[in-house]
Amino acid sequence: MLQIIFATGNEGKMREIRAILEDLEVGISSMKEAGLDLEIEENGTTFEENAMIKAQAAADALAAQKRPGKYVVMADDSGLEIDCLNGEPGIYSARYLGEETPFNVKSRDFLKRMADVPEEERTARFVCAIAAVFPGGEAVTTRGIVEGRIGYELRGDNGFGYDPIFYLPEYDRTAAELSDEEKNQISHRSRALGLMKEELKKRISLL
Ligand code: IMP
Repeated sequence: MLQIIFATGNEGKMREIRAILEDLEVGISSMKEAGLDLEIEENGTTFEENAMIKAQAAADALAAQKRPGKYVVMADDSGLEIDCLNGEPGIYSARYLGEETPFNVKSRDFLKRMADVPEEERTARFVCAIAAVFPGGEAVTTRGIVEGRIGYELRGDNGFGYDPIFYLPEYDRTAAELSDEEKNQISHRSRALGLMKEELKKRISLL
């Protein structure tokens, strides 16, 4: 059976991936479950480049081990783009103000910088790119997006990262006020994963 290895240490992402791909005849494991231990530097300039750097590094490490079987190696990169701040924090979403700075501090900093920005200019989006390296070396990326607005205060306790300042007009709530189930249905990651599932389906019988 084809094996998918997802280059992440994040259990939440693994749960989402397993749920979305559950009806495919594939095995799914994290890097750790696959026995790969890599420190990968994300020095790309786009979400797609960073996702591909991670997927390719893991695929190279796996190839060097000459394991039997067929593997698809995947990785993702995601972040928040705020239009009135020229797309900040973008690929630097996790690193903004330093990796160790709590997200409520990072979020409040954006609210402060945007104190005078009117409602209609507060547009923003979460972006997720997923990269896959297929057996034989073919490399594919997909992108999922969810559009919203930056609010005026932090609201909600669910979710993570910038969810409390990311307001979704059609729900009249922030992403941190949605249940996990609601968020998974519309999230940038689930959209990118859904598109990657189509790419997998196209190739699965040929692999
Ligand atoms: P990474 O793709 O795991 O490197 O995540 C990048 C960063 O983007 C995270 O640390 C968060 O700051 C932000 N981010 C990505 N997706 C979300 C989301 O769904 N909600 C809130 N913040 C997010």
